[in-house]
Amino acid sequence: TGGIGAAGGHEGFGGHYELPNMTAYCETCASIANIFWNHRMFLMHGDAKYIDVLERVLYNAALSGISMEGDRFFYPNVLESIGQHSRSPWFGCACCPSNVARFIPSVPGYTYAYKDSDVYVNLFISGETTIETQNNKVKLTQQTQYPWKGTVNIGVEPEKSDTFTINVRIPGWAQNKCVPSDLYTFHKVVKEQAGLKVNGKRVSPNIKDGFARIERKWQKGDTIELNLPMPVRRIIAHRDVKTNRGKVVLQRG
Ligand SMILES: [Zn+2]
Repeated sequence: TGGIGAAGGHEGFGGHYELPNMTAYCETCASIANIFWNHRMFLMHGDAKYIDVLERVLYNAALSGISMEGDRFFYPNVLESIGQHSRSPWFGCACCPSNVARFIPSVPGYTYAYKDSDVYVNLFISGETTIETQNNKVKLTQQTQYPWKGTVNIGVEPEKSDTFTINVRIPGWAQNKCVPSDLYTFHKVVKEQAGLKVNGKRVSPNIKDGFARIERKWQKGDTIELNLPMPVRRIIAHRDVKTNRGKVVLQRG
């Protein structure tokens, strides 16, 4: 789930590979901090592996902290329960609900980035934005039902036609790399790969640091289509995670 902080007693990390399920702490605040940390690491290094972690936490460990109705919250987000855990409307020390309240409106800020004249598409979320790059203004419009569906359509409208690079993140999980370490691995390699089209024509740009680098002379009306394979797959933990031996997790996408 990307939950972080295995031990509840001191609200911190345990020993190496100490990742219990029912007593996992994984505080909602820690998940939000994990997103902040990985966003800043991405801004420093430009590597999509940090956005891979950010995205996993966003849709799993962080979002589990709030109920569908939006009025009940988890403090710890355990990974296993026999019914003894439930969300609460408030806490004596209510860091998590207030953290969620400030975090959710900040999500659009993680979706795109730019450096000099290059643009980065980090997350796949419907919406539009205008990015002021070094010498241009680039309007991007995303249409997608991600994470329910793996197709992402991006409309590109630069204020003036120019050559620059749009970096589209190809998630690690779409390249058979479950996480950016050996902690978790896919049970089987799948052959389906991410596909990219520009103006309806298939392209195979270089992938650098987890981003497909599409460099061309962009003009108003250009489109990018990304198709991500989203089969349901088994994930197994590193054998040193004792509590997960003999167990699998199912992941879609
Ligand atoms: Zn908290």
